[in-house]
Amino acid sequence: MPTQTLDREVVIIGSGPAGLTAAIYSARASLKPLLIDAPADAEKQTVPGGQLMITTDVENYPGFAKGIDGPALMEEFRKQAERFGTEFLEEWIDSVDLSERPFLLKTRNYEISTQTLIIATGASAMWLGIPGEAKVPDGFGGNGVSACATCDGPLPGFRNQPLVVVGGGDTAMEEATFLTRYASKVYVIHRRDKLRASKIMQDKALHNEKIEFVWNTEVEEILGEDQAGVTGVRLRNVVTNDESRLPCSGVFIAIGHKPNTALFKGQLDMDDIGYLITAHRSTATNVPGVFACGDVQDNCYRQAVTAAGTGCMAALDAERFLDHLPVAMPSGEEVTIEDEHVTEDHQAIIRADGSMIPNHPEMAAKEE
Ligand code: NDP
Repeated sequence: MPTQTLDREVVIIGSGPAGLTAAIYSARASLKPLLIDAPADAEKQTVPGGQLMITTDVENYPGFAKGIDGPALMEEFRKQAERFGTEFLEEWIDSVDLSERPFLLKTRNYEISTQTLIIATGASAMWLGIPGEAKVPDGFGGNGVSACATCDGPLPGFRNQPLVVVGGGDTAMEEATFLTRYASKVYVIHRRDKLRASKIMQDKALHNEKIEFVWNTEVEEILGEDQAGVTGVRLRNVVTNDESRLPCSGVFIAIGHKPNTALFKGQLDMDDIGYLITAHRSTATNVPGVFACGDVQDNCYRQAVTAAGTGCMAALDAERFLDHLPVAMPSGEEVTIEDEHVTEDHQAIIRADGSMIPNHPEMAAKEE
């Protein structure tokens, strides 16, 4: 049973680049945000700070010409959010009730009500669960094994080397094509003899002479040495059961991502995979006052800098909402905290009691 209650104007869930950027902006706007994140848990694979906490060199975050360590970058984000008064709480959230405002969040020790909620719970890369895949020192994760070609592909250790991409979807095709810029050769290992990827992405990869497909094959183990990192993979053909070894310097796992949205099922609109759906011109979800930013609503860009960008947008949207200004919704209309709806064509305002007034200053003044 929760023992303590908290009332807030802005609560942020998640402490990756999106959540912490939302915290920096809303704290600077004097909204005293409360940022909640799951405690570190090896079994559940949670770590405050998000996916950058399991990355080594971040070379593409603007402002760091020499690159920066993922955890060091997140430490800077966190200190900046703290500097303006963000309050942090490390608790598992057991339930969220978005049926009315203030929204209600329950953890083991707290019952938290809030006028606005910013969801920045991210997405987790899916892993094969094979020997050699885990993070250093248990495997070669971060030392040749990666789930993000854009992040790690350009690293010096992968240049002019043979690399492996696992998967047969759009992400695998995109990553394989991207990696041919640096690698001597890219092997795509796929468990079937047909790709799941869209035709256009398949064609790009199938016609790239640096890419070789290895069909009906699973990676059973990632091989390597402590210093050198990854040196190869052990493969098994699922049709013939034949085993083989393929030398390579890097393995990119591209078998999909899982957005962390289980808490919001049935309350917020999601796509087939579970990504939250936000408005075209804002970070608003279908529930007024609930905003989403970062990878939890983005299965396309998935970069720290795009997550930070949408975190900033979510904070500005929450601020706007609390200032009684209209916010664009996924439905096309705009909604205020008073439950007024501005129609999609901007011609009328429907008030909470159902009455309608024109959205032109002079006409509205006449009606008043
Ligand atoms: P998908 O779920 O589409 O594909 C995952 C791939 O990984 C499948 O080929 C699947 O094999 C394989 N796979 C899954 N689990 C395992 C496993 N345990 N062992 C071996 N192989 C496995 O994920 P994506 O990340 O590729 O795409 C997700 C969504 O994002 C899609 O809707 C996609 O269209 C979109 N996307 C769009 C892009 C673009 O348009 N630029 C870029 C990237 C993604 P199998 O086929 O046998 O199931």
